[in-house]
Formats: sequence, structure tokens, C-alpha cells
Amino acid sequence: MKHALITGGAGFIGSHLAEHLLAQNIQVTVVDNLATGLAHNIAHLHQHKDFKFIQLDVADRAAMAPLVANCTELYHLASYVGVKLVSTEPTHTILSNFRAIDVMLDLVSHYRPKFLLASTSEVYGKAMDLDATTPLKEDADRVYGATSVNRWCYAGVKAMEEFLTLAQYQERGVHTVAVRPFNVIGERQRADFGMVVPRFIQQALKNEPITLYGDGNQTRCFTYVGDVVKAMDFLLNHPNSGGELYNIGNNQPITIKALADLIIRKTNSKSEVVHIPIQEAYASGFEDINTRIPDVEKLKTLGFSPSVSLNEIIDRILAHESA
Ligand code: UDP
Repeated sequence: MKHALITGGAGFIGSHLAEHLLAQNIQVTVVDNLATGLAHNIAHLHQHKDFKFIQLDVADRAAMAPLVANCTELYHLASYVGVKLVSTEPTHTILSNFRAIDVMLDLVSHYRPKFLLASTSEVYGKAMDLDATTPLKEDADRVYGATSVNRWCYAGVKAMEEFLTLAQYQERGVHTVAVRPFNVIGERQRADFGMVVPRFIQQALKNEPITLYGDGNQTRCFTYVGDVVKAMDFLLNHPNSGGELYNIGNNQPITIKALADLIIRKTNSKSEVVHIPIQEAYASGFEDINTRIPDVEKLKTLGFSPSVSLNEIIDRILAHESA
């Protein structure tokens, strides 16, 4: 029987991945230190006979070893996330991610389960601010800001995790894959980490001002969490994915201004949009990017495309909020 280990499985994406794998009759063990994940996210999974949760820090090598030895596939999602934490806690962001990947890949090289790294589209940095017309291909150059701008520490450490993950395939022949999801949204995403969609939805539902940073002409491509976890499962189990890197995303951009209008309309909210200068919005050490659009051909060629539209995603989140 297949046995999946998910690090960071009590997080937003991890909890959806656990649900998805259990629905395929796969045994699932979730490891999470609950630093940014929530016990509540997986509360409904405990009743499942094939589900197990262990509260643990993934950098605890001795405790992780038997878990890695026992699994057939390992999804490494444990990571410090969110612009707020990354901007204000660079030391912890860098070191906790490094310590985790070091332990994970050391164990993976020994026990050899299939391994998927959840990286991020943040790794592209601000490449599209230099060329707004070319969607980002997996082999595009990365463009980062100065090291005095804390935002870029996250891109830096996730890029190093990708190098290490792909090196396991090249140097040791372990089936490893790295994925870069683009602006993942869906049910259970926390509003307090700074991500735009859960923030705007909470503000709209409470009829509070919608905090639009900058002029609102910046764009993003939002991807449904359910599509992202299906793509992860698809990729990790595809025979040709070893040693490869994939974008997971929707390639239809929307301006953040239009997103605010859409959410106000769908919630019948009385909220007004207030413009907040970027430097006021975040602690110093933040820099916004204009746009980020994935080139999705590589994943599509392999046989997978996301299917849930932004409209539908917002409807699902709102249905979840009112349940
Ligand atoms: N944003 C905004 N208001 C908010 C939160 C975010 O206007 O309350 C903007 C933010 O400046 C960025 C975009 O929404 O341009 C997406 O932000 P998020 O943090 O969700 O994703 P990322 O910037 O990492 O792609």
C-alpha cells in the first residue's frame, strides 16, 4: 500500500493534500510543528482510519528517521510562509527552511522514497518587472532585489532548496521533483499571514475597508488549492518527472484592484476600497512586484491543467466561510 508522509500537513495546502490523498485510499501521516499550521485544519481527518498526525519539528532528525523509512512518497511542504513573517523574521525564515531541507534530503537519500519539494513562484523574484510580456518558464532567469530588502530572503532559501532537491536526482538517483505554485488560494487559508484574497474576503464580510496596496494595477494569477494538490500527486507519481521542476498555476492575470471589486460584488459588501502606500503597508524590508504569470506548458504537456476558475474559487471560499 502507498504511504504518504506530508511535512507541514496541518497548513493550508498540506491539509488539502492530506484530504486528496486519503480520498485515493493512500495512507497519510502528517507531521507539523504547528508553528504556522493549525490543528483545526486537520481536525476532520482524525476519524479516517488511514490518517495519522504527529506534532513534530521536521528538523528533529531522530524522530523523522522512522517516518521517512516507512513512507513510499514524501511531500515536503513544511515552510515559513507569508510576506509578513518573511519581512519581519528573516533569520528564522532562512534557518528553519535550511535545517528542514537538510534533514529531509539526508533521510531521503538513505531511505529513498519519492520526494516532492513544495517550492514557490517567489523563486522567480521580479523577473517579469523587467519583461512583462514573457510568462515565466521553469528555466527563466531569476531576478532578485537587494539583500537589504528582507522579502528576497524567502526566494533565496527556496531556490537553494530546489538546487538541493534536484541534486538528489542527479547525484543519487532518487526520484525528486520540485514545484512552484503561483498564488494558491482556497478554503482554510489564513488572513493573518498577509495574503490578499483571505484578507479582502474577511474585510468584505465584516464591511471593513478593503486595504489596496499601491495603485492596485499590479496583477497576480490565482490558483485553486485543490488543483495544486492534484498536480502535486500527479507529478510525484509521473514516471518522467524525476529531477524536474514544474510551475503549477493558472495563467490568467487579474489586477488587485479588479480582485477587490470582484470580492465586494460577490459578498454584497458595503466595504470601501482604501489605497495604502506600499511602504506604509509593510515593515521596511518589503518590495512589491508588478506581475507574475506562469508559463504552464511543461505541466500541460505531461497531461495536467488546473480547472477551477477564479470566480468559482471565490464562490467556494465564501460557501466555506458561511458554512
Ligand atoms: N495586497 C493588497 N492588500 C492586502 C494584501 C495584499 O493590495 O491587504 C497586494 C500585495 O501588495 C500584492 C498582491 O496583493 O501586490 C498579492 O499579495 P500576496 O501577499 O497575496 O501575494 P504575493 O505578493 O506574494 O504574490
